[in-house]
Amino acid sequence: MKLDKLLDYQKHDMALRRIMLEVEKSDDAQRIEKAKQEFAIAKKNVEDSEKDALSLVEFFSGLEKEYQAVQKKIDKLIPQIDKLEKSLDKDTGKLDEYEKLINELGVLKSEANTIENNTIKQKSKGDETIQKYKQASERAKKVREFHAKAKERLDALQKEKEPEIRVIRAALKELEPKVDKDLMAQYKTLTDDGKLPAFVAAHLDGKNFSCKGCGMSLSQTGSSTLTSKGYTSCESCRRIVYK
Ligand SMILES: [Zn+2]
Repeated sequence: MKLDKLLDYQKHDMALRRIMLEVEKSDDAQRIEKAKQEFAIAKKNVEDSEKDALSLVEFFSGLEKEYQAVQKKIDKLIPQIDKLEKSLDKDTGKLDEYEKLINELGVLKSEANTIENNTIKQKSKGDETIQKYKQASERAKKVREFHAKAKERLDALQKEKEPEIRVIRAALKELEPKVDKDLMAQYKTLTDDGKLPAFVAAHLDGKNFSCKGCGMSLSQTGSSTLTSKGYTSCESCRRIVYK
């Protein structure tokens, strides 16, 4: 029968696909996928906290400059006030000026206070950032270890399947040139479209044939082609149905 070689090829191909799928869908392969996603999240958290830390450093150095400027003004003002205070004993005419300077000092001191309070507030944000960074690094480390173990087991599984895969691949290579070219082309098109298996036996129910791939009945034309030629294309799913 013309289809024999193709069906033999399909049998081996399906066996190979089953093994590949078994490896691909194994628990460890899925663990590795999950670890990759988790690692990406942890990595992003590490990067985010690094960015936060950098902007906090910039913020603190800005605050420090502001604080120093205010302190400088205070340092300049205090001797002026002291001097004026002493002269007040003899000359009360400078009382207005003295009060003005005292007010200025009060404003500067409150500015310095605000800066100090801001520093304290940002300090707790800094602690949070450090905490976030530590947690994310720790998580990344654990995920890496988890990934390494799963990878080790998956590699072992792949290695275990290797001899079997080699045998099937050799059989496929030997069979391929023996299969009718047109049938092989049809087979490749169908399997590339995910129609697995691509060639299916016809199901006979009374006088009616149906496709075992999709379950739909063949038309009268389809059925007569099937009877005369031995195989036909299913009108519903395009699989090749054979008798
Ligand atoms: Zn079908």
